Amino acid sequence: MSIAKRMYYQAARLVNLSLLKGAAPTGILLPYHHLVSDEQVPYVKHLYPYKGVKAFQRDLDYLLKHFKPVSLQEVIAAIRRQAPLPAHTFLLTFDDGLKEVAEVIAPLLRQKGIPAAFFLNSAFIDNRSLFYRFKISLLVEALLQPQSRATLDALAEVLAQHKNGPLPGVASPESSRPETLIQAVKRIRYHNRALTDAAGAVLGIDFNAWLAEHQPFMSSDQVRKLVEEGFAIGGHSIDHPYYQDLTLEEMLRQTTASVDMLAERFGLHYKAFAFPHSDAGIPKAFFDRLLQGPEPAVDVIFGTNNQRRDIYPGILHRFNCERPELDIAAAVKGILIYNRLQKVRGQSVIRRD
Ligand SMILES: [Zn+2]
Repeated sequence: MSIAKRMYYQAARLVNLSLLKGAAPTGILLPYHHLVSDEQVPYVKHLYPYKGVKAFQRDLDYLLKHFKPVSLQEVIAAIRRQAPLPAHTFLLTFDDGLKEVAEVIAPLLRQKGIPAAFFLNSAFIDNRSLFYRFKISLLVEALLQPQSRATLDALAEVLAQHKNGPLPGVASPESSRPETLIQAVKRIRYHNRALTDAAGAVLGIDFNAWLAEHQPFMSSDQVRKLVEEGFAIGGHSIDHPYYQDLTLEEMLRQTTASVDMLAERFGLHYKAFAFPHSDAGIPKAFFDRLLQGPEPAVDVIFGTNNQRRDIYPGILHRFNCERPELDIAAAVKGILIYNRLQKVRGQSVIRRD
């Protein structure tokens, strides 16, 4: 986090919450997380930071003290009735369907009686495939260990081969330095994700064997138990692409395939979706196709645009709440001040073409 951002949150922390409580544009606080763990999780630690159990518990207590928890089902019921969302409330959401949801997060929420929604990728449930970003984190982890010169040269060769790959042109002594290779591996995107497997082969990582052994995602049985307990689930695409890189038809397919699979497998009476990565630049046509008409394909869509309003009431925007260096009071007040400033500037509603 930049110094300016840190200073902003430190200042925000000093503001009295009661002055800000009404600032959420839709009345509801929508923090999102992926993971809560006291462990160093090697397949996540090079992607984003996350909080430990104690810090997360403190966050929950703060939210409960100042806001009322609501479930995704209540939010959807309000949207279906075309009613305003309940004010001074919060809805917790968690993306990517990690096993820590069932093993760490849900037990803590159960204890405190807090509902939540979990957004899952249909290709990852039951550990049938491994998220390419997790492979990137594992590759970085391997590159932080001593590797032979021959291995590093071979990896540079592999990463330079791909036409739009992360290392331009021909491998050189410069490009096979571990730091350069780490930066290159981090630049691998969805469209050239096959490079993660090629890089894994060079570094002696068999991702299929790794997946079978470590099983980072929830099983269908674990998800079923969450649903039986009243927790909500929703789609998060098939395999977590950047929607900005997809055609409209591919975006729709990734969305409905994940949402419909969950509804069918777990007998859901609602359909919810949360964008993987970001919803920036997604055309209006996408939302028209999913949310409009007598029988909308999806009840609610969650983006990551910091609680702003969108073109339809069925689109809600969340904010990141899992940075360990920010306690919840600073994160909540920071986002509410931001929401108020946007309102003053007339920017609290997103435009889509
Ligand atoms: Zn995600």
